[in-house]
Amino acid sequence: MDPNPFLLNIADLLGNEASSRPVTITSGVDWNVELIRLVEDPPLVADLMLHPVSKGIAVTGRVQFTTADTCYRCLRETLSDRDAAVGALFDSNNDDDETYPLGVHDIDVLQMLRDEVLLSLPIVEDCGDECPGVASSAQTDLNTESSGDIGESRSPFAVLENLLGPGDSTE
Ligand SMILES: [Zn+2]
Repeated sequence: MDPNPFLLNIADLLGNEASSRPVTITSGVDWNVELIRLVEDPPLVADLMLHPVSKGIAVTGRVQFTTADTCYRCLRETLSDRDAAVGALFDSNNDDDETYPLGVHDIDVLQMLRDEVLLSLPIVEDCGDECPGVASSAQTDLNTESSGDIGESRSPFAVLENLLGPGDSTE
């Protein structure tokens, strides 16, 4: 079994003469939210800087990753290259919800990165200007109305009447 790439040894940072140290993590992950998921290939790359602070380790940096986004309109899947800024404090204060736990010799940045990456994602995504959309009939009407003929029959209400048909307009 491979060692956990997110488990960082920080023993050297806890000494009196310690200075900040960069670390890069490259790992495929399968994190996801509703309609957006990270792909495992290409893998997530986290460029982090570990800073010793009085009660623990501060981690800052950037994460680059690729997501497969399901368009909320047409349900087509497209790939997006994304990045997110991350920053968090690891300390031994277990009562504090805003920090992450500090181990004796290491910190596990997986949960922190996952939190920050998923928070950076949009709630919904569409596939762009070429999205065919959900409704094709309304789009067709718009496209064929280029002759300047603005008749009453083109109004959305006329379309609705046609869709409802006779006899269905009362409840
Ligand atoms: Zn779409």
